[in-house]
Amino acid sequence: MIIEMETVPLKLIGLSALERRLIESSSRADFIRNELRIVQAGVNGESKLKRVFEKYVFPFEHYIFHGLQLTSTGRFQIDTLFVSKKGIFVIEMKNIAGKIYFPPDRNQLVRTLENGQIDAFECPTIQVERNCMLLKDWFQARRLEVPITGLSVFAEVKQQFENIRPNMKLLFPMEIPSYFRKVEYEEDKMNAVTLKKIVSKLKAGHINYNPFPLCKTYSIPEREIKKGIICEECECVGMLRAAGKWVCPYCRNSKKNAHERAIVEMVMLLGNGISNKECRAFLGIKDSSTTKRLLTSMRLSSSGENKGRRYHIDDEMISAFMMDFPRTYDTKRR
Ligand SMILES: [Zn+2]
Repeated sequence: MIIEMETVPLKLIGLSALERRLIESSSRADFIRNELRIVQAGVNGESKLKRVFEKYVFPFEHYIFHGLQLTSTGRFQIDTLFVSKKGIFVIEMKNIAGKIYFPPDRNQLVRTLENGQIDAFECPTIQVERNCMLLKDWFQARRLEVPITGLSVFAEVKQQFENIRPNMKLLFPMEIPSYFRKVEYEEDKMNAVTLKKIVSKLKAGHINYNPFPLCKTYSIPEREIKKGIICEECECVGMLRAAGKWVCPYCRNSKKNAHERAIVEMVMLLGNGISNKECRAFLGIKDSSTTKRLLTSMRLSSSGENKGRRYHIDDEMISAFMMDFPRTYDTKRR
């Protein structure tokens, strides 16, 4: 059984919005672009891993968690967790382009791109070991003793490695079925009752960590964020409200509910909720009753009264409003 903990990758849609709305002169622009590329690569790698698990039927009882987030002695996220009577497997995906080298004297992975750019990343085995340790602590706190195995998977089949350390267990996605085929013949490490208990405890222990507001996370001042509604046709900022819809003054594209995406983006980037006044300033409209109508039509929850009223958008609503991802947040521009 596959158990998906996060249907829309919130950090990715948030970062895409931040990249779109960050002014070009921001000193953080390059950093954010790079951060977006890394997160996008991670999400692409995880989708590859998900496809492998969707395609292959393992002939023994098992549960596969994607995007599980837990807290034990520290907060941690596991890309994929394979749970069966044969034990628990922490699977971390690496989607790093270029030639990969493991320096013998540091716990790092150094990659070189074709254009000569060199970047260093944390060694995947360290990351897997850390997650295994945190998961072990998590189980111990629940008085459960279960064997945990860590696996690093590299998304790119054509990946070139240099200097792999002897203790490293690296797999490619298509090697996963045969790996678990061998596991099938190992003896059981737990009984059916314990397995069910573990699965229900993991489900209950998941906490969806909210990365918002991103401007706070990345120390970006509000003045560096472009306000207004961005036209999805020509990407110009500043659609205008006319006759109950939004019209782009540059390409004449029009859309009735273009404010929804802008409002969700504003909340992801700037704030915990939104007031009528903040919404007017962000969308560039003067009329507070129109703004109230727009906010109310999105069926947002609210707190406070009159001028102090704030509208809130929780993670589920962000996912629902951004369901057309990745169509709207495609990577063609990068
Ligand atoms: Zn336009």
